[in-house]
Amino acid sequence: MQSPAIQGYPTQCPVCSSHYNHSEETEVIFENRGESVIHVSCQKCKSFFLFSLRMNPMGLAGIGMLTDLNREEAIFFLNKRRRISNEEILSVYVELKNEKVGVNNLFS
Ligand SMILES: [Zn+2]
Repeated sequence: MQSPAIQGYPTQCPVCSSHYNHSEETEVIFENRGESVIHVSCQKCKSFFLFSLRMNPMGLAGIGMLTDLNREEAIFFLNKRRRISNEEILSVYVELKNEKVGVNNLFS
């Protein structure tokens, strides 16, 4: 039985258009609370692709992007990431707004 296609999941390399051999080039590198991140390596052009799958009330949602992170680097950054709090965003906004370099225009 063939599994259903997931919208946006790459079947071929977006750089060189060669078809991925998922058994050799794909690895789930992160899983947490209904989210999975898959790292895909193209054996032909050596580009990398990250695909995030998340279960939500509407079903499975996926989003992907090209990356320059190899598998080990992607694993490192995914395990280091944390959520940015509203207070941190506000403090960056206040810092930039107080600077006299014209960044106030970014927020108006
Ligand atoms: Zn490629």
